[in-house]
Amino acid sequence: MTDFLMATYNRLPVQFERGEGVWLWDGDGKRYLDALSGIAVCGLGHAHPAVQRALCEQAGRLIHTSNLYGIGLQQQLGEQLAKLANMERVFFSNSGAEANEAAIKIARLYGHQRGVESPTIIVMEGSFHGRTMATLSATGNRKVQAGFEPLVKGFVRVPYNDLESIRTLAESRSDIVALLVEPIQGEGGINLPDEEYLPQLREICDARQWLLMLDEIQTGMGRSGRWFCHQHSGIVPDVMTLAKGLGNGVPIGACLAAGPAASVFTPGSHGSTFGGNPLACAAASAVVETLRSERLPERAEQLGARLLAAFADALQGVEGVEEIRGEGLLLGIELDRPCAPLVQQALAQGLLINVTAESVIRLLPPLVMRDEEADWLVTTLTALIRQFLTAKAA
Ligand SMILES: *Cc1c(COP(=O)(O)O)cnc(C)c1O
Repeated sequence: MTDFLMATYNRLPVQFERGEGVWLWDGDGKRYLDALSGIAVCGLGHAHPAVQRALCEQAGRLIHTSNLYGIGLQQQLGEQLAKLANMERVFFSNSGAEANEAAIKIARLYGHQRGVESPTIIVMEGSFHGRTMATLSATGNRKVQAGFEPLVKGFVRVPYNDLESIRTLAESRSDIVALLVEPIQGEGGINLPDEEYLPQLREICDARQWLLMLDEIQTGMGRSGRWFCHQHSGIVPDVMTLAKGLGNGVPIGACLAAGPAASVFTPGSHGSTFGGNPLACAAASAVVETLRSERLPERAEQLGARLLAAFADALQGVEGVEEIRGEGLLLGIELDRPCAPLVQQALAQGLLINVTAESVIRLLPPLVMRDEEADWLVTTLTALIRQFLTAKAA
């Protein structure tokens, strides 16, 4: 069936025909609870009427004109996002990797403007920033890079959540211009830094005039329980990237900037044919409005706390469960052993989950999930985990 497609994915043996809220249905009419939201994309769930309406109306009016002309909907979405994030300017792309490419280009231009010959960006071990050449070079996972050498230069890597190694670099190098970091590592295994990490990074960057660039592609758009995850720490970055949850499934990414970073791009320095077209912006504006009117960032915080407590309770004392952690609806259950087979076992039970970093069950459910649905998720997954751990031990 996949003969005509390049073999880039290990796909599960299922296809979905339609969705509604947190639910998806396959061709046989079997129902699945989507506890992954298409990898943190469909925060409003599937087939949300506000997104459908925005798309249908805009498709009937105008889909694309190119950035050779003014695009009112892009201006409007730019204003919405800049105000929510307390930032100044936005560049729109079509994906997360492209949003990060824009951030990386901003950092390099910023460095050259300050007379740094070979501007270098600090990146983290265990990070994920995308699959384009620059973003895979920034990514802290050898599997993503292997075979694609030569990598893009200009990155230096330090352990995540380790301020000392950054301070050490600051002493020894004069070519650093920026730091690119996820406020919570998603693909890396739902890794939460210490409370002081982001505020301290802000201080370090301020003292050195480095740009603090946050990859909020997975953590943004309400998922962490705030509009943007860094808002838990009370800081504002110089650059922030968004994508996944921004369009609820319509491809769109954004690179926001404040201060000096907001004005390094000038006509000709960057661009995209599709980026910020009227259709994608209409969808994303509807997403922003719905997140706001339905108070979904707050809902993500409540629901996340409920799920954490319920999992902690249901898995208390279970041998093999190392840690249950998360913020809002970014949740990780770490086991003491690789647990990829759980994905198929959950699928058989009508539950979509993900395993990342080998032994971390990752949950990224829609922000619109109801309490009963959350309870079903806990009951079903807990039973699977218990079964998996005892079967392995036997
Ligand atoms: C998914 C993701 C990306 C890449 O986004 P794409 O749209 O797949 O290019 C980058 N950074 C983070 C943190 C992500 O989770």
